[in-house]
Amino acid sequence: MKHRIVVLGAGYAGAVAAGRLARRLHPDDIEITVVNADTDFVERVRMHQLATGQDLKHHELSKVYAGSGVRVRQARVTAVDVDRRTVALTDGRDADEIAYDTLVYALGSAAADHGVPGVAEHAYDISGRPSALRLRDRLAQLPAGATVLVVGGGLTGLEAVTEIAEARPDLDVALATRGALGDWLTAQAQRHLRGVCARLGITVHEHTDVARVDATGVVTGDGRVLPAQVTVWTAGFAVHPIAAATTLTVAGTGQIVVDATMRSVSHPDVYAVGDAALADGPGGKPLRMSCASGIPMAWQAADAIAIRLTGRTKIPKAPLRYYNQCISLGRRDGLIQYVTADDQAKRALLKGALAARYKEVVCAGAAWSIAHPIPYPVRRHRILATRAESLAATP
Ligand SMILES: Cc1cc2nc3c(=O)[nH]c(=O)nc-3n(C[C@H](O)[C@H](O)[C@H](O)COP(=O)(O)OP(=O)(O)OC[C@H]3O[C@@H](n4cnc5c(N)ncnc54)[C@H](O)[C@@H]3O)c2cc1C
Repeated sequence: MKHRIVVLGAGYAGAVAAGRLARRLHPDDIEITVVNADTDFVERVRMHQLATGQDLKHHELSKVYAGSGVRVRQARVTAVDVDRRTVALTDGRDADEIAYDTLVYALGSAAADHGVPGVAEHAYDISGRPSALRLRDRLAQLPAGATVLVVGGGLTGLEAVTEIAEARPDLDVALATRGALGDWLTAQAQRHLRGVCARLGITVHEHTDVARVDATGVVTGDGRVLPAQVTVWTAGFAVHPIAAATTLTVAGTGQIVVDATMRSVSHPDVYAVGDAALADGPGGKPLRMSCASGIPMAWQAADAIAIRLTGRTKIPKAPLRYYNQCISLGRRDGLIQYVTADDQAKRALLKGALAARYKEVVCAGAAWSIAHPIPYPVRRHRILATRAESLAATP
């Protein structure tokens, strides 16, 4: 009997974990199944590009894993039973259940409305392909002079607002941010950001809390009305409720709490990676939701699973730390803010066209490594035990 590894989600974290497991473990001993709602690996970091009318490359998962032994199952996960080690699925018509010996949970996240009234009904978001396509359709219908308000001045909000303003200079584009514009960046980076917003004609509402969204715009916490034909909500991400409905130990955010090897602290046969997991980074600070952390988390989980299954003891450590924050500001400008291991801005900075190219290389590199999981040197080890109980008992 083969050891069944089931990977839920084929975004950055799940796709990397599945490819790496296939390179590490012998196909005679294991069966790897990836379950994903979409038939493609979706480059989520480019959703602002998709929303503004750009066409993105398709990375069909069946082609990504061709010849690797990884089976792709297109289905939506509806529930996980970590006590029976089963996953409930639906393909939209029929329900099914699959069993696992080791689970890698990587279902990512979606937009978080933080309980603000009207967001679900009236706002658009770019947290995934379906919602980005919905915004794309809406933007395409907008006449010149219409107002688009992006709510949220974090990395996603900055990328969204600049991309929209650059693609549609005929629109009146605004940003509402809770703090000062880019206030976690260095002063030089903040100056650059202000210059870009001025150049693209973006109105910036700083120190602005949005308390309600409706069809005609938003109302702020201090009672101001900011009119908008389209409100784009980029005020953070929240995880899917599936993990919280299990007996897994989850944080208040619903993320699965994992140890340094990305193994659930409550269920040793479950690993969690990417946005869906809560793992400590440098200095004990939780890693933030990003592919900058999701990819090394996936390396870590895959290596830990492979080593535990093959009976070896020394688990290599993936670099669970940050190097830079790469921010696109439209297609021709950008900011690369170098950071400390725990994500604090350092003096070093790249800006302008060079930063835009750097960011493009980072995004393309991440997608390339997922779309080509096999050419790397393969060293597939035989596993010692094929029974889940043996793995669960391994420290
Ligand atoms: C516009 C935008 C720009 C960003 N830019 C950056 C950036 O520059 N740098 C950076 O580090 N991060 C960036 N991020 C964040 C980054 O995209 C996420 O942190 C990253 O995608 C998380 O990876 P993941 O694998 O955990 O989840 P995801 O990439 O979200 O993948 C989750 C996968 O699970 C699938 N799935 C979800 N639910 C189900 C279900 N019930 N059943 C089956 N399948 C399911 C999804 O279809 C998806 O394939 C950006 C995000 C956005 C939206």
